[in-house]
Amino acid sequence: MPDTAHFKARLLQLKQAHSARIKAIDQDIRHEGMTADWSEQATERENDEVLESLGVTTEQELAQINLALKRIESGEYFFCDECGEEIPEARLELLPFSTLCVRCAEKLEHN
Ligand SMILES: [Zn+2]
Repeated sequence: MPDTAHFKARLLQLKQAHSARIKAIDQDIRHEGMTADWSEQATERENDEVLESLGVTTEQELAQINLALKRIESGEYFFCDECGEEIPEARLELLPFSTLCVRCAEKLEHN
């Protein structure tokens, strides 16, 4: 039987890290406490775009983490959302918020 507590702890850790990152990105984009001079403003705009896409990725991952936590509670965590087969623990170790087995993930990627 896979170690549910171990993965739950990892997911909660990730969740905390992601929430903190989203907060930090938000603050960066709003330039709190910063006064940019003329030469810095163009760079800042470019930075904002990078930060925004990073923020979106982080938020998407956070949603996946929350889903994974729900899947742990409902006992679905170790099974592929698509084909119902068991997801190898090594994969979950690498990608704790993965909801698909390697085969299904690759299939979706190529579609
Ligand atoms: Zn599958």
